[in-house]
Amino acid sequence: MTGIPKAIVEKLLKENKAHDCGKTAEVCVRIIAIAELPTIYGDYQVIAFENNVDGREHAALAHGDIYEGEEVPVRLHSECLTGDTLGSLRCDCGEQLQQSLKEIGAMPAGVVLYMRQEGRGIGFVNKIRAYQLQDYGYDTFQANEVLGFKPDERDYDLAAHMLGSLHVRSVKLMTNNPEKIRDLQSHGVKITGRIPLITEPNQYNQFYLETKKLKAGHLLDKNVPEVILEHQNEIIDPNHSARTRHARDDSA
Ligand SMILES: [Zn+2]
Ligand SMILES: [Zn+2]
Repeated sequence: MTGIPKAIVEKLLKENKAHDCGKTAEVCVRIIAIAELPTIYGDYQVIAFENNVDGREHAALAHGDIYEGEEVPVRLHSECLTGDTLGSLRCDCGEQLQQSLKEIGAMPAGVVLYMRQEGRGIGFVNKIRAYQLQDYGYDTFQANEVLGFKPDERDYDLAAHMLGSLHVRSVKLMTNNPEKIRDLQSHGVKITGRIPLITEPNQYNQFYLETKKLKAGHLLDKNVPEVILEHQNEIIDPNHSARTRHARDDSA
């Protein structure tokens, strides 16, 4: 099985043990453990992260050797208990997660970042409260507004840090959402392209998907022209000493 080689796994665990972005950092994650994870979608390694700041635990599912990889296919996935685990048809999360794992599992290498940020960061209970409002005719964004949340509170800092911790050099983002590309770029991730991820709407999530398309500019149609991406130099977090050192090594 080809994955991150044992020697690199040891190196990552060692450098993460001492890693700390400092007290002022809003997000700082550390790799705690890495294990083989054969799945029905392909051979993966699961990387367990712990956030030093809020104690939350996150996962990366890596297929192939992504260490210091260029143009690595990457999918960002925010936890969705109802969609990922319970088979809910109210959203397309479960289907997107399965499809991204399947597609990346069939590629030479890639990574799915599984971020434990239920309901776009609002938490499980609030998400169900929003569902309840939707049962009374609100759309997903209106429901979140009623609850006092912004449309999208996912933390791209976290994703950028996780990619940096794994020494991924540049990324092809698997997404239909141009906002995700810009947000991740604004956190210093070098993005060289986009891989669309299209799932078929069902009778329950059609309205939700149409709303996302209209209100968040999601590219749900396969024929939408590609976004022109600006270039960023390196995945750098000024607080992240290991990565800063890594970037300097590159320019030397
Ligand atoms: Zn850090
Ligand atoms: Zn969902």
